[in-house]
Amino acid sequence: MATNRTLTMIKPEAVAAGHTGKIIDMIIEAGFKVKAMKLTQLSKERAGEFYEVHKERPFYGELVDYMSSGPIVAAVLEKENAVADFRALIGATDPAEAAEGTIRKKFAKSKAENAAHGSDSDDNAEIESNFHFSAKELVG
Ligand code: UDP
Ligand code: MG
Repeated sequence: MATNRTLTMIKPEAVAAGHTGKIIDMIIEAGFKVKAMKLTQLSKERAGEFYEVHKERPFYGELVDYMSSGPIVAAVLEKENAVADFRALIGATDPAEAAEGTIRKKFAKSKAENAAHGSDSDDNAEIESNFHFSAKELVG
């Protein structure tokens, strides 16, 4: 995958609260193009696989339970400097530390239930895109 793409998930608490449309609007307003998008729900096994890198962290079990607790919206986003620019748009992991105007500042409920995921590197953007989407599901 090109280095101008990133993978996001609108997380269960944000979808359940009806924030999906507002978050997608912020993403598009910030200049990202949606290359693929789906509403889906992760099983515990799939959520565990997605967050395998955090397996040894104390919050892993709760994270897996949370991320499999309800529907999410996964999307591949395209923009120059996508990974870094999207991390800036979502804000810090803990909404208490997230900058004004960021997705997490506006919509996150807590450090765990923090509204949206964003890939942390180009390599992980590709891995995470392939986790959610097949090549034929990407437009353009
Ligand atoms: N998380 C948590 N407690 C923590 C750190 C992280 O519940 O102390 C959750 C949170 O949902 C976060 C996810 O685990 O988004 C992945 O953590 P990471 O450090 O990768 O944060 P992110 O890249 O999402 O900002
Ligand atoms: Mg991360």
